[in-house]
Amino acid sequence: MSFSLAFQIKNLINKGIELPDDMLLSIYEASGSTLMELFSLALELKEKYAGKKVNFCSIISAKTGICSEDCAFCGQSAIAGKKGKKIKVNTLLSVSEIVEAAKIAKNNGANEFSIVTSGTSINNENELSIIANAVKRIKEEVGITPCASLGLMKYEHLLYLKNCGLEVFHHNIETSSDFFPKICSTHSFADNTRTVKSAKKAGLKVCSGVIIGMGESRLDRIRMAKEIKELDVDNIPVNFLNPIQGTPLENTEELTPMECLKTLAIFRFVNPVKNILAQGGREYNLRQLQPLALMAGANGLLLGNYLLTSGRNPSLDMELINDLGLEKAGYVK
Ligand code: SF4
Repeated sequence: MSFSLAFQIKNLINKGIELPDDMLLSIYEASGSTLMELFSLALELKEKYAGKKVNFCSIISAKTGICSEDCAFCGQSAIAGKKGKKIKVNTLLSVSEIVEAAKIAKNNGANEFSIVTSGTSINNENELSIIANAVKRIKEEVGITPCASLGLMKYEHLLYLKNCGLEVFHHNIETSSDFFPKICSTHSFADNTRTVKSAKKAGLKVCSGVIIGMGESRLDRIRMAKEIKELDVDNIPVNFLNPIQGTPLENTEELTPMECLKTLAIFRFVNPVKNILAQGGREYNLRQLQPLALMAGANGLLLGNYLLTSGRNPSLDMELINDLGLEKAGYVK
């Protein structure tokens, strides 16, 4: 008697045994009822971990443009800046501007709000102090989980932000360690994991994920899911490349919606008790299948606009979770 792929995966997860790469790779070949059984398992694991709650995170680009790094996917990189589409460049927003954006995010339905800055890191103590003050006011006045994504960071600065009330720090590993040199030469995969580890050491919850669709192999995606598992972070955003004009990835082949959904399911199977978030590029890549992200392992969505591209109207996502019988997560202090 042969057991189904979903049955074999569930059995290994229940026994705490690492899922073999070839078993995970075969998910990409699944279709029809075999695929539905896999999505059903991803949903079962998600519900066991997160119930009906959907995490909604919103971001603000608190500092845009002017980056010396060369991340191939990014419209703010040094190399995109030379031939890319013109982006509005600003200095760091004021504390009040950041707090106002957090209020709007909360009114739109977000339970988490991330202050995102471009660049290798934040530049000086003045910027750190603006972010710290914004975090304090967001906690006191808005009641939404404050998160920050500030590039590569020292432990001491992360500890300072934690002591000012920061709850979550975001820093993506972006892709697998093997593929990383193909998308960035100015910093390393190890630099990214060092920042993730420093944030954990500072007592922050950590959000660290990937971008798929940058030309990596399916095996690279499985490696990413496993490398994230090793880092043992709290939230795992899975972004889908929306190619930006003027970047080296501007002509990258599109993902299919099914490829994206299968990748979300793989991330859930490898990381069954984590927040798996379907983030940037979901409109562009999932298209009409966006609701299925929440049936294929994800328990969170990025709400509203991205850093350089527009997201969809938040009211559509509120309607989406109502229609699916799900609820938005609340703010837990
Ligand atoms: S470090 Fe951040 S802002 Fe700079 S190029 Fe990379 S992703 Fe873009």
